[in-house]
Amino acid sequence: MEPATTLREFHQWSITDRDGFWREQAKLIYWHKPFKQVLDYSHPPFTRWFVGGETNLCYNAIDRHLDTQADKPALIFVSTETGVERTYSFRQLHQEVMRMAAIFQQLGVGRGDRVLLYMPMIPEAVFAMYACARIGAIHSVVFGGFASHSLASRIDDAGPKLIVSADGGMRGGRVIPYKPALDEAIELSSHKPTHCLLIDRGLAPMARTQGRDVDYEPLRQKHFGASVPVTWLESNEVSYTLYTSGTTGKPKGVQRDVGGYAVALAASMKHIYCGNAGETYFSSSDIGWVVGHSYIIYGPLLAGMATILFEGTPICPDAGILWRLVEKYRVTVMFSAPTAIRVLKKQDAGWLKKYDTSSLRALFLAGEPLDEPTARWITEGLGRPVIDNYWQTETGWPILTVAHGVEKTPPRLGSPGMPMYGYDVRLLDLETGEEVGPNQKGVVAIVPPLPPGCLQTVWRDDKRFVSTYFSTLPGKQVYSTFDWGIRDSDGYTFILGRTDDVINVAGHRLGTREIEESITSHPAVADCAVVGVSDPIKGQVAMAFAVLRDTKRGQSAEDRALLEKEIMTLVDKQLGAVARPTRVHIIDGLPKTRSGKVLRRSIQAICEGRDPGDLTTIEDPGVLEQIRKATAISIAA
Ligand code: AMP
Repeated sequence: MEPATTLREFHQWSITDRDGFWREQAKLIYWHKPFKQVLDYSHPPFTRWFVGGETNLCYNAIDRHLDTQADKPALIFVSTETGVERTYSFRQLHQEVMRMAAIFQQLGVGRGDRVLLYMPMIPEAVFAMYACARIGAIHSVVFGGFASHSLASRIDDAGPKLIVSADGGMRGGRVIPYKPALDEAIELSSHKPTHCLLIDRGLAPMARTQGRDVDYEPLRQKHFGASVPVTWLESNEVSYTLYTSGTTGKPKGVQRDVGGYAVALAASMKHIYCGNAGETYFSSSDIGWVVGHSYIIYGPLLAGMATILFEGTPICPDAGILWRLVEKYRVTVMFSAPTAIRVLKKQDAGWLKKYDTSSLRALFLAGEPLDEPTARWITEGLGRPVIDNYWQTETGWPILTVAHGVEKTPPRLGSPGMPMYGYDVRLLDLETGEEVGPNQKGVVAIVPPLPPGCLQTVWRDDKRFVSTYFSTLPGKQVYSTFDWGIRDSDGYTFILGRTDDVINVAGHRLGTREIEESITSHPAVADCAVVGVSDPIKGQVAMAFAVLRDTKRGQSAEDRALLEKEIMTLVDKQLGAVARPTRVHIIDGLPKTRSGKVLRRSIQAICEGRDPGDLTTIEDPGVLEQIRKATAISIAA
């Protein structure tokens, strides 16, 4: 089929001639050995893309550009926290990655071994991810904002031979030590890594465990001239796992392949982000999230672009920092989150005009709903298209957006856009599994096979992959995103929120169950419920309601305040500040159905001042009044 000219035709091509479409996209990357089959879908819903083909993510992102742009910028590191700003060319990045790969090999890491990264936003994190990709090790990056318990459960699930970490990171001028949390996590976990490789930035004291902990810098010197050849990997070998929250307390390891992911990202750089070799891409996300993996680490470099790695916040030293970087590095493609823009919107708008942002072709926003006032403010301020992306850790690249590399479809305020090529997106009735009509609410579902780049399975848990994602809608084996959506008559889809108990705080996806488990580990707490409550800046915040054991605690207002503090500190310590609820209300009981199910939606509705809905099944209606009072007081406070 001939390349299509409209997005609708392009999408149609990807669905009706799947093999032809993806064979064409596969030309965007280098294959050491050509694939024999575009898609093996003999065991639905499992997909195997580009079967038999051999390639390598590191080769495609770095080595491949050495002939044409070895001395052009590849990695631009900017830390407004430490004042360090440094650019690595493709040649320098190549050398650093080979040094890191040689260190990994010396530490016994090889193909298929897991390497867990618990790191701040520093160049060594990029070297480590690419070193894994180069030698066929599987990286598993854990967001630096997570604390010891979250880290321990991920260590146990990933089973890493090596952990790479650092003494600390910085945020808002404050040092955040990493090593104590790491030591505590290893203490808590059943699996023990053979080694921890430590980057000492001179920010925080760092204890070493003899025999296990090794320092990076001396090893880097030792392997200064290292040359580590690329390990060619079959397309379906595992490139990485990345943990994400669901409705159970146990996070899921989203597992991704090599070839499918490389092709998906390269195609998205061409069709969605329109980035060209020699230009600069700036994503203000974190390497601990999927956006960081796809559009800080791999995507831009696959396209031959330079990528900015930013350690800092959007308002430090002032609210002009992001735009100053756009001007300085002539950024053409920028990626951020609605929360960051809402934070900037609260500041003086003059910052946006102070810098020359004319190099920007578009600003992409993702990870959480983009509200209309924010979209309008930034669109008017920048004078450039602001493009909403809807996707998930599981998919690795956008499900819904507009693709200006294919057709200049105008974005529509409040909607991320249209189904992207490769995704057969349907809106289904949760009860019947039937498709809903235009302007009717349904679950956003994808008819498999999922396109390249999406998760292959849940790490070490094929059953969970099928039962979590493909078994929730009646009568059909379709992938559920667990989001509600609605489509207008022009085909623009709008996202209306989650169908499950997952909440989204400033673009960070959190499972309420995980936070509840942490809170109930406090000795005074018997039961608890956590809900997401709408917030003007962060989109949502977590709010907790705790029921105490029959103890002497919580009798006075002072003790309730003290308990609230203790519980928040506990969540901070176990899961990280990112999961800390804004309030912990102490109440006498939780609203439950007679069968014992907590009515989270009703709690949430009360917190947001909405009608709590049908409460005929509730066991003790009195507790709702308590929740109403507690939240009214907290709103007044
Ligand atoms: P994560 O896997 O952490 O990226 O979270 C994915 C979830 O974030 C989705 O299932 C949605 O609930 C939400 N989300 C991501 N992008 C958007 C968007 N553009 N609009 C609305 N919700 C979004």
